[in-house]
Amino acid sequence: MTTKRDYYDILGLDRNAAKKDIKKAYRKLAMKYHPDVSKEKDAEEKFKEISEAYAVLSDDTKRAQYDIAGHAGIDGKYGDQEDIIRTGNFGGFEDLQDVLRHFGFNFGGGFEGFGGFQRKHEGPMKGRNLRVDLEITLEDAAAGVDTHINVPHTKTCPVCKGEGAKPGTGKKTCSVCRGTGQKKDVKRTPFGQFVSITTCNVCRGEGKIIEQLCEKCSGNGIIEVKSRVHVKIPEGVDTGSRLRIGGEGDAGIRGGPSGDLYVVIHVKEHPVFTRHADDIICKIPVSFAQAALGSEIEVPTLTKKAKLKIPPGTQTGTIFRLRGEGVSHLQGSGKGDEHVKVVVKVPEKLDSRQKELLYEFAKLSGEDIKYEKGIFEKIKNKF
Ligand SMILES: [Zn+2]
Ligand SMILES: [Zn+2]
Repeated sequence: MTTKRDYYDILGLDRNAAKKDIKKAYRKLAMKYHPDVSKEKDAEEKFKEISEAYAVLSDDTKRAQYDIAGHAGIDGKYGDQEDIIRTGNFGGFEDLQDVLRHFGFNFGGGFEGFGGFQRKHEGPMKGRNLRVDLEITLEDAAAGVDTHINVPHTKTCPVCKGEGAKPGTGKKTCSVCRGTGQKKDVKRTPFGQFVSITTCNVCRGEGKIIEQLCEKCSGNGIIEVKSRVHVKIPEGVDTGSRLRIGGEGDAGIRGGPSGDLYVVIHVKEHPVFTRHADDIICKIPVSFAQAALGSEIEVPTLTKKAKLKIPPGTQTGTIFRLRGEGVSHLQGSGKGDEHVKVVVKVPEKLDSRQKELLYEFAKLSGEDIKYEKGIFEKIKNKF
């Protein structure tokens, strides 16, 4: 193990550096140390170091983790830089492309575009990870559900097994690069003259090309398909929960494994319940009589109708708890509770008999309510 240098030191920045200064510093250094153009000693090592520092400091989350815990906050989480580039989680990818464009690099698209820099990665590569957002009901989030989603992704061509060649045909030496897989370019730039070596864009660095293309995939080795993927949603998920389904991402490159599919859960708003962690809350209206005299009312839960006893003299806003009627805990066993908030409703319309009885009730309660008193008279009484 060698000791790692401080990311800020690597980019020559102080710890309060603004985002645009981080980018600026990175671009300057990346141009200086890019291994295909740099004449500096250890250019490749330096470039790797710069890229890694930039990948962390340009990402607010990673930068915060680094500021708090140093390299320990980053290592193990993001792997080394090669890994970041290979999986495509590389924060500076676009910036790097920008830098490379200064040198006249061509981008055939995707990772192939790293040109010479990419040469050491010509082995099998894992396919891209994909993300699908899935909306479910609160009931399904609480109880878990088995469902299917249609996922458009790429698969290894079943006809040529990803080789791109028509079955039974072979490969011949690439005539453009004469089998070297590399293309040499001399470029004049404001920084001087550079010789850049890029991957041959005809054979994509392989040095060999297919004699006859596979008809199914036109030689790409992959096909686009829509797969019906089974998703088992565990009980207790909430908005933002992420499920990983291995191997349902895009096809791997050069025989590498497929990427993974991430299903991100969104729980729909419920017409009756609001959720707080694993507890659910609902408001149930009761009449003045029910609240005053006490009664048994019916309340909805996520799975059924339950009975709830309201004791006599219940005040509006009183909360009753139904134990275990909430959402299952995602981690561990058990469930949250349901909280029923009782809201006492005042009747909006009364017939004359109801009024009569309420006046009677008020009178018995010692209240003085003037019957059918006009508004002006009420105001006059104030003086
Ligand atoms: Zn094919
Ligand atoms: Zn070639």
